[in-house]
Amino acid sequence: MKVEITALITNKAVTPIRLVNGTTLLMLNGYTFWYAGASKNHQRWICSSYKKNCRVYIQINDRMQLVKITSYQHSHDRPSYGITSNGLYYKQR
Ligand SMILES: [Zn+2]
Repeated sequence: MKVEITALITNKAVTPIRLVNGTTLLMLNGYTFWYAGASKNHQRWICSSYKKNCRVYIQINDRMQLVKITSYQHSHDRPSYGITSNGLYYKQR
């Protein structure tokens, strides 16, 4: 489930973040998304709170640009993350 992200997203403010455990997530409007697979042209990323029955997902193209977001509302508040001195994210409770 690990993805290497080297390109920065230049529109729609989709931002890759790296967790302390090495996992890469995408952040959009303060919500985070897990990599959930790729089709020919797009990658699909699902809300990191999908286990709380959140159905929001996004699709990005091979240039890391947001091409689709569901119209569902998140079923939860924005997750709270801290950042280590070397720029890694960790979830706060
Ligand atoms: Zn969500």
